[in-house]
Amino acid sequence: MKKLLCSLLTVPSLSSFAMSMQDKAHYANIYVDELMQEFDRELNHRVMFNNTESMMLTKTYAKLISGRDYLENMEDHSDHHHSHKSASILEVPSFLNFNEVTATINKQSQKFQKIQNKIKSLNQTADVIYPSVNGAGNITGNTFPANTWAFTFDDGPRGQRTKTVVDDLYSRGLKATFFMLTAEAIKYQSAAEYVKDAGMEIALHSYTHKSLAGVSQTRLDYQVTKAKKDLEKLIDVKLEYFRLPYGAGTRSSLTRKVIAQNKLVHLFWNIDTLDWKDKDPKSIFARAKKQMALTPKKSGVILFHDIHSQSAVASALLMDYLMENDKKICTIGEIINHINGQSEACLN
Ligand SMILES: [Zn+2]
Repeated sequence: MKKLLCSLLTVPSLSSFAMSMQDKAHYANIYVDELMQEFDRELNHRVMFNNTESMMLTKTYAKLISGRDYLENMEDHSDHHHSHKSASILEVPSFLNFNEVTATINKQSQKFQKIQNKIKSLNQTADVIYPSVNGAGNITGNTFPANTWAFTFDDGPRGQRTKTVVDDLYSRGLKATFFMLTAEAIKYQSAAEYVKDAGMEIALHSYTHKSLAGVSQTRLDYQVTKAKKDLEKLIDVKLEYFRLPYGAGTRSSLTRKVIAQNKLVHLFWNIDTLDWKDKDPKSIFARAKKQMALTPKKSGVILFHDIHSQSAVASALLMDYLMENDKKICTIGEIINHINGQSEACLN
C-alpha cells in the first residue's frame, strides 16, 4: 500500500518510466511510417517541380535511416540508467512515450545530417573514391555513365529469398552486387554460394550490421577486417567493395582508415527503395522509378534488401521496366572498370 501511494503521489519525470522494448518498437514503427509518407510526399513534390536534388540529402531521409538503426539496434540505444523492469502503476500517456522515441531518433539523425552536409559541401554530383583517410570518399553512382544502373542487395544472404532474387536476375541475363553480412553468409552458406555460382558480384556489408559511426578500433577490426577475411574464406571470393551499415561512419577517419587498409572502396547509393519498411512491391517500384527519373544522368546505384519478400517482387518489376526502356544493368565492378577505360560487355 505504501509503495502504491508513493507511486501515486510522486510526480513522475519522463525518464522514470521504463518503456518496454515492444513499446519502443511500436512507437518507432509508427514514427518511421510517418517519415516514409513524408519522404513520398517530398519525392512527389520534387517530381512535380522537376527538382533534381537527391532525396538522400533530405532531413526526412536522415531521420528514416536513424529510425531504422533505432529499430534494429534497440538494445544498444536503451538507457541503462533507467532499466528497472516494472513501470509505475500510473499509465503514461502514450504521446509522451511516442515523443520520447521520436526525440531519440531525431537526435541520432543529426549524425547522418552531418554526412549529408559534407556531401552537399563537396559537390553532390561528384564521386570521391576511396582509399583516402582525409575528407569524404564515396561512390554514390551520381557520375555513372548515362542510363546505367547497378542493383545492390544488402543484409543477406537469406535462404530462398536471396535465391529468388538471384533467379530473377539470372533468367533475365542480368548481374547485381550483393552486400553480404558475414554472419548471415555463415548461417546461409548455400545461399551465399548460390549468389556466387550465378556469377553475381559479392561485396561486404560488415559482420553483423552494427552501426560503425565513431566506434573503436577493436569493433572495426571485427566488423570490417575479420568480416572480410571470413567471408572471403567461406565462399572463396575476393571482396573489393564495402558498404557501411546505415551508411553511417563515412565521416569517421578511423572507420575510413580501416576500410582503406582493407583495400575496400566504400559504396553509397543514390536511390533508396525503402523496401525494408514498405511491404507493397508496387509502391516500392514506384518510389524507385520516381527517384531514378530525377537523377542527372539517369544512372546510379539502387538500394534493395534481399531478405524481404516484397523486395524480390519489386526488384523484378524494376528489372523488366529498365530492360523495356533500354537501360543498362551492371555490377558495380563492371561500371567502375568501364569508367577506368576497360571494355565491359555489359556497357557496350
Ligand atoms: Zn544494411
